[in-house]
Amino acid sequence: MPLEIVTIPCLSDNYAFLAHDAESGNTALIDAPEAGPILAELENRGWTLSHVLLTHHHFDHVDGLPAILEKHPAKVIGAAADAHRLPPLDQQVAEGDQFEIGGEPVQVMDVSGHTVGHVAFYMPQSSVVFTADSLMALGCGRLFEGTAPQMWASLSKLAALPDDTLVCSGHEYTQSNGKFALTVDPDNTALLERVADIARARAANEPTVPSSLALEKATNPFLRATDPAIQAHLGMENADPAAVFAEIRARKDRF
Ligand code: ZN
Ligand code: FE
Repeated sequence: MPLEIVTIPCLSDNYAFLAHDAESGNTALIDAPEAGPILAELENRGWTLSHVLLTHHHFDHVDGLPAILEKHPAKVIGAAADAHRLPPLDQQVAEGDQFEIGGEPVQVMDVSGHTVGHVAFYMPQSSVVFTADSLMALGCGRLFEGTAPQMWASLSKLAALPDDTLVCSGHEYTQSNGKFALTVDPDNTALLERVADIARARAANEPTVPSSLALEKATNPFLRATDPAIQAHLGMENADPAAVFAEIRARKDRF
């Protein structure tokens, strides 16, 4: 049975997620931006955390952890490469590692770029990937530590997952991402439709996260550096996709 996924808004625009296995009763928290809303959701559902999965070291993904662990002494899992700057880890993981939540396999993907040591957690049986600030809804994380080729490689790995994969990312930035996306991919009808859907959702105060990987591949400019229309729009026909990605990322930084 697929894990039940719950999206929890935290801070001003962050998302944390719960992944619950009804059979075993195990529940994983993915990222810990803020204790209050996460503890409230757990209490409402009568769930106890068994695992906490940390994607990267930024404060808005880890600061809630100490208060959460006081009530839920769960096993904390994060990147070995980031162990020196993450909260204390019970298990250190790296690209290609696999562990289980209940009976569900979890695969670790290195998706460095936003930070070096950022990991994503892919659960193939439930078709869900937790990407935080690597692949985001209609966007990707800013390159604070890694390089554009590194982020392009990370996004390409995520894009190779099955189309029906649910992408659980870390922030509600989708509406402003959409405004930018239209500047580099203005004739993309799937993008125009999605931007209209996002406007409707946000007007109703609904989250736009998670999204499907198929939709991201059709509309997210950061996954579309090989697209001939985008390349032509940038005057970069047949350029190296990593260079096209770098140009799109640089334009977004100035947007
Ligand atoms: Zn971050
Ligand atoms: Fe963040």
